[in-house]
Amino acid sequence: MSVLSVVLPAYNEELMAGKACVTLGNLLQNAGIPYELVVVDDGSKDHTWSEIQKAAKKDRNIVGVHFSRNFGKESAVFAGLAQASGDVVAVMDCDLQHPPQKLLEMYHLWEDGYEVIEGVKSSRGKESFFHKESAGFFYDIMTKATGVNMKNTSDFKMMDRKAVDSILSMPERNMFFRATSSWVGFKTAFVEFDVQKREAGESKWSAWSLIKYAFTNIVAFTTLPLQFVTVGGAVCFVLSAILGIYSLVQYFTGHAVEGYTTILIVLLLVGSAVMMSLGIIGYYISKIYEEVKHRPRYIISEIVHGEENGSVKIKQDNTGR
Ligand code: UDP
Ligand code: MG
Repeated sequence: MSVLSVVLPAYNEELMAGKACVTLGNLLQNAGIPYELVVVDDGSKDHTWSEIQKAAKKDRNIVGVHFSRNFGKESAVFAGLAQASGDVVAVMDCDLQHPPQKLLEMYHLWEDGYEVIEGVKSSRGKESFFHKESAGFFYDIMTKATGVNMKNTSDFKMMDRKAVDSILSMPERNMFFRATSSWVGFKTAFVEFDVQKREAGESKWSAWSLIKYAFTNIVAFTTLPLQFVTVGGAVCFVLSAILGIYSLVQYFTGHAVEGYTTILIVLLLVGSAVMMSLGIIGYYISKIYEEVKHRPRYIISEIVHGEENGSVKIKQDNTGR
């Protein structure tokens, strides 16, 4: 039977990591699905790593990956995909906000021949007003920019080996996993799920990190903002033509008015438009710079493989390119 790998990124999840392993292990064992849990500790500052090691002692199907520091969720997902050896790989949050039972539904869809199974949020769960609105705004932009409906998409997915390998073969460092899985194509199915309440621990997202996440991912996925610069320039050009003709007419008809205020306003407007455009271009350049440096996406300090006799096999590794 085909092995299912489940990738679980974990950052400061000492309260949930062990529990997620037990819950998923029991669920998949009862369903008779051969499985492997790849838990990636994204450089947690709490006891997440020792929880994962403990879990690996109890369940030989657990692979624990420990980052040398916090590299962010996208990197953790990527590392998990790289370590996963299953014929089909699922990615889900290790706080169990993605309902584990849905894995079975996804697995059956995969058996039916679907190659990418996307989890779609039917409700967003409990979120603050700010969180909801800013997420909505971000996904509106992403939807327009990519042509892929990003609303209610999630990082809860299951992918066939083919799709996983094509994602792994992409060279870019700044990867937006949520959109990339639909970008690679393949025969896709959707599974709706309700976001569960977080049982323990807290969300890792601050308002600032959400804003950063939004900008990084927009830039990682689309060059639309660069076209805004062009459009903004065109609008400025039309306005300046109108204003130019108007002032010339005024001048030749002998009505040239004192222009200090007008000049000041125009100068300030044009100045800020130019600086903002430079900012957008600069942001893309900084991302290009990060890409060409070609640094590894993550650095692994330790990998443990659960073993039958209760001990764990530890391997030092330092890949991630
Ligand atoms: N996560 C991670 N690295 C980070 C931040 C988060 O691996 O830098 C993991 C986290 O442990 C969890 C998942 O990403 O499994 C989703 O994070 P969280 O629950 O904080 O986000 P939310 O559900 O509130 O959107
Ligand atoms: Mg969560």
